[in-house]
Amino acid sequence: MPRDTPAEPRQQKQLPMATPDRPVMGARCNGCGDCCVQEVCGLGIEVLGESAQAPCPLLRQHDGRFWCGVIEEAERVDVAFAGHMKWRLGIGNGCFTGGA
Ligand code: SF4
Ligand code: SF4
Repeated sequence: MPRDTPAEPRQQKQLPMATPDRPVMGARCNGCGDCCVQEVCGLGIEVLGESAQAPCPLLRQHDGRFWCGVIEEAERVDVAFAGHMKWRLGIGNGCFTGGA
């Protein structure tokens, strides 16, 4: 998920595992993980600090896709809070990365 501040020019980084192809922008998120591999989002920066570097260390892999570890932990503790975090991240709004 992108930070509010301008990012470095986007460079393709290696995914740590075989993943689904990134869908087109606006399509349902398939957990390809590319967004979090390329950049640590604002939530990740809040948790890890400004020095956090992509791929996001909070990214988790299971069930054939990637997941946000912050959301998973929040869901264990407080479902309403997790829902707020999902809203913040735009989860459910489709892929925002502009994949082709
Ligand atoms: S938002 Fe897009 S790039 Fe990010 S995990 Fe979902 S499908 Fe992949
Ligand atoms: S894994 Fe979670 S905290 Fe890290 S960049 Fe992705 S959405 Fe943000």
